[in-house]
Order: sequence, then structure tokens, then C-alpha cells
Amino acid sequence: MKSFTTRSLNIPFPKKDPHNALAMPIYESVAFEFASAEDIAANFRGELPAHTYSRTSNPTVEYFETKVRTLTGAHQVLALSSGMSAISATMLSICRQGDNIISGNHLFGHTVALFEQSLSAYGLETRFADTTRPEEIEQLIDDKTRAIYFETVTNPQLEIADISRLVEIANRYGILLIADSTVTPPSVFNSKTLGVHIEVMSATKFISGGATSFGGLIIDNGLYDWSKNPNCRAASEKFGKDAFIARLRKNYYRNFGMPMTAHTANYMISGLDILELRVERCYQNCIKLGEFFQKTVKVKRVDYPGLKDSTYYDLALKQFGGVPGTVMTFDLESQDDCFRFINRLKIIRRATNLNDNKSLIIHPYSTIYAEFTESIRREMGIRQGMMRLSVGIEGAEDLIEDIEQALELKYS
Ligand SMILES: *Cc1c(COP(=O)(O)O)cnc(C)c1O
Repeated sequence: MKSFTTRSLNIPFPKKDPHNALAMPIYESVAFEFASAEDIAANFRGELPAHTYSRTSNPTVEYFETKVRTLTGAHQVLALSSGMSAISATMLSICRQGDNIISGNHLFGHTVALFEQSLSAYGLETRFADTTRPEEIEQLIDDKTRAIYFETVTNPQLEIADISRLVEIANRYGILLIADSTVTPPSVFNSKTLGVHIEVMSATKFISGGATSFGGLIIDNGLYDWSKNPNCRAASEKFGKDAFIARLRKNYYRNFGMPMTAHTANYMISGLDILELRVERCYQNCIKLGEFFQKTVKVKRVDYPGLKDSTYYDLALKQFGGVPGTVMTFDLESQDDCFRFINRLKIIRRATNLNDNKSLIIHPYSTIYAEFTESIRREMGIRQGMMRLSVGIEGAEDLIEDIEQALELKYS
């Protein structure tokens, strides 16, 4: 098969452009016109598919969705306003009051807040389990369980679940398996070949690349029988394999108002075309930085599942072709040392985002996890001396030089 980049650059538009434009135009139009009263009536009956109003669908967004669908081999793809809207729309559409999901216990913070604070108010319960120990999951499943949810590489713990075991459990119980694949983008991870039913992703991170815009993706691999979920049964009778996205696009995307805009889709289309190049560069930088950290005395510990001595190296190789995202952590002696180090950096930026083209550093203990108790932080693997580094596309030598000078640890 041709490379990811070659394929991305050569995916035809859903409709031929009247001017033969090479780049997809940005259709900044709220509404779309019909030729006749009969046509618009046929469209509303579902008999004449066309764009009508951009809160439901838009040509530029449709092209971004088409690119992702073609590149991943998925059945259907929906692009939304953010990663959080992809996750919330998915959960709302598969659960109703009294239902539950089982989720990995190490999650992106706002996903935890969504599950524990927002969705719980509507009677949707989340049961947390360690997804690296699948036997914990099975004990929590009952007849109201609608999904198992996990992140492909947890952050900042950088743990990796064995996806084949999660697939096996989900299929045995007939429940949906949902992967948040934000940190392992589609150039290194294909959820369909592993048997995952639904993938959700923050396109804000790796796909946008330059951290210019918010976006989310829901990818339906076409592997789940929607009649098995009581909330999707009626849609399954009407739409068959298309049930999930068809129902979600109307009841959640349109009705809650979660669309991606045409302008954002344009950023995402450009981001996708150079995704593979950027991920490869970030990965090479991770390996060089990992080797540097391992031989540096002041660095007490380094974690990156792409390094051969990592506990998760074999799973990283099997599931992500050896590129388990490009976020790493490393430890100094104390929080004090971390603060002095971070303050001396000149190229690596102090920020909380992930997978920007720029390298970004944060001290999770005093920021993202500051409100948690000491024992919860310990249980979550958040150490006082640990820093999270989201590795960017700068020159590896420049990053190493910046780190070396910052490791002097004296206030300048
Ligand atoms: C950032 C992130 C999200 C949320 O995405 P937004 O685009 O910021 O809404 C969800 N999951 C993971 C793993 C993330 O890193």
C-alpha cells in the first residue's frame, strides 16, 4: 500500500470542483440552496442527500471526514468542534439514564470530569478499572453496561493496555469498545485492524499540529452490530451499518450544536497531509532525548514506551508500530529541581498542551494534579520529581542543548 502521506495528498473531493481547485475550498456558508420546492421537500424526506445547513454538515468538513475515513479504512467518520464533543456525543448517544460504562482509571482530566461530574447528573454511571488488568473489567460488567472506554497510551503514566484482550472481552459480552487515540495518531495506529469498534480523538493535538484550532473525530470502524445496544436498536433497523453516525449526527451533533467549522476543517486537512512527517520527526527526537536522559546522572528516571527497556515496549511495537505517541516523562531529584530546570529552558515551552509542533513541558504534580490528595497522586503515578515533555519537531541537537544548559539548575 502507498504511504500515508501519498494517500492523504491524493484523496479525491466528494464532488468535482467547478474550477479544478487543487486545494479544497473553504465553504464558509451557513446554508445551501435548492433548485426547487420539490427538491427541498425530497431532501427533508431523506431522499435527496445534500448539504442544507452547516450545523448538520458542510462540504469542507465533509472532505476532512472523507480523508480520515479513506486513510483509516473506517466505515464512517464525523468531525466535531473538539475532542470533548467527540467523547460527550459518543457517550450520550450510546447510554440512557441508568446505564453504565467501564472506563480506564488513568484518563485525560477533562474526560474524568465529563464522566464524574457532567454525565453522572443525567444518570450515566462510570465504573473505573485498570485496563492493563482486563480481569478487573469483567467483574464490573452487568446488563446495563454499554461500553468499555480506554486511552491508547495514558498520560502522563504512559501505560498501554493490550487492546486484543479488551476487544475479546467487549465482543464476548456484546458491548462497545471505544478507544481515545489522541496520542497515537492515524499514521501509527489503526484501530480497525485491531478490532476496536469506535475511536474518538482530539484533532486539536497531532492533526492540527500547530495548535491552531479545536477539533474532534469519531471513527466508526463498522465492526459493531448496533442492534446489540438498546439505545441504538431502532436506528439499526432503519439505517443498518450506518446507524451510529446517522443517529448521532442528528440527535447530538446537530441538536446539541457540536459542528466543526469549515475554517477549522481547512487547518485539519493541511495538518493531516503532513502528519506522518511530523510524527516521524517527533519520534526520532524522543529516541534521541531518551538516550540522552538515560546517560545523564541528574535525570533519575525516564519513561517512554518507545524505548527498548520500557515495560510496554512490546505492546508499543505490536499496536503502534513502535511509535507509542511522542510524549515522554523524566524525573529530577525534587519538585524544586524541576521548577528551576523549567524556568531555565529557552526553546522548550512551558504549556499544558500535547503534540504541538513546539516541544512543551509541564510539572504535572503542581499543575494538572494539584487538587488531588497525596495518596491519589501516588496511586496515579504522579511523582513530585516528574516532568512531562511533549516532544516537538525542533532539531534534536537544539533540544538537547537547551536541556543540558537548563540542567545546570542554578538560577541565572
Ligand atoms: C486534549 C485531549 C482531549 C480533549 O480534546 P479537546 O480537543 O481539547 O477537546 C481528549 N482526550 C485526550 C487524550 C486529550 O489529550
